[in-house]
Amino acid sequence: MELLDGRALANELTHAQQTAVKTLKVQGVTPKLVVIMVGDDPASAIYTQSKQKRATKIGMASELKRLSAETTEAELLALVKTLNDDRTVDGILVQLPLPKQINEDHVIQAIDAKKDVDGFSPVNIGQLWLNQPGLVACTPNGIMRLLAAHKIDVAGKNVVIVGRSNIVGRPLAALMLNANATVTIAHSRTANLKDLTKTADILVAAIGKPHFFGIDAVKEGAVVIDVGINRLEDGSVTGDVDFEALQTHVSAMTPVPRGVGPMTITMLMEQTIEIAKERVKRG
Ligand code: NDP
Repeated sequence: MELLDGRALANELTHAQQTAVKTLKVQGVTPKLVVIMVGDDPASAIYTQSKQKRATKIGMASELKRLSAETTEAELLALVKTLNDDRTVDGILVQLPLPKQINEDHVIQAIDAKKDVDGFSPVNIGQLWLNQPGLVACTPNGIMRLLAAHKIDVAGKNVVIVGRSNIVGRPLAALMLNANATVTIAHSRTANLKDLTKTADILVAAIGKPHFFGIDAVKEGAVVIDVGINRLEDGSVTGDVDFEALQTHVSAMTPVPRGVGPMTITMLMEQTIEIAKERVKRG
């Protein structure tokens, strides 16, 4: 079995990003990412810190705007507008979830689509489904890069994606379709799920249920992408796939951790750098 090692590829890409940032700085532009976090959800705090840390590692400017849990929607929208208008800011990311007094859709729609590094805005989602250039959700983008790095061509393949969230399943389905795969999106209401997943040449598991997919759900020789991140009682992290059982059954598979996860943050940095390159072009 070929291990689709996301951490190794992420490390490689991080070095390339450091070089790209240096070049941009010589051209007078320092790529800048602003992360907004509202409230003090511990998981969000960890995610935002790791984004800050990575941005600093590659030499980018990064700023964390921490707002209180009582922040109103109007206050958050005003901050987003200020950042939209700030020429020195390339990427804006609002860490989800937001407190219940704030409508997430309103906030995502308020981010300038050209600075929407998460690729969640309706404009970017629309461009993705129209197969036009735009900013793409980072986890699906990372999955496509990982497959490409391992020379796994999805064209003509039967791809089954289990999970239909706006941040993983749906944008990944569009990317796969744009890359000429034949795509099925499954979810909790899918009938005979395991019969379906057994037909997949490439199976993507993104449901958040530990070890849900075993040999009974996977075709021999399939490629398996495990997006799930599940924390077990002993504190360890595992995926949606039974890695142990499948490793002698499949042709390639991502581990959890060190698979899809490290690619997500790497794609976030890459998109911020790409936006900064546009700033150089505009002068
Ligand atoms: P959501 O909870 O938003 O979506 C889960 C999806 O899985 C839904 O579409 C749901 O169906 C489907 N589902 C749930 N249970 C079943 C089941 N028993 N059978 C079939 N389908 C099912 O989750 P996310 O998309 O945000 O995340 C999914 C997983 O990926 C999580 O473990 C998350 O932590 C991880 N993740 C990892 C990332 C990374 O960087 N590696 C990034 C983002 C997420 P329905 O729509 O019908 O409810």
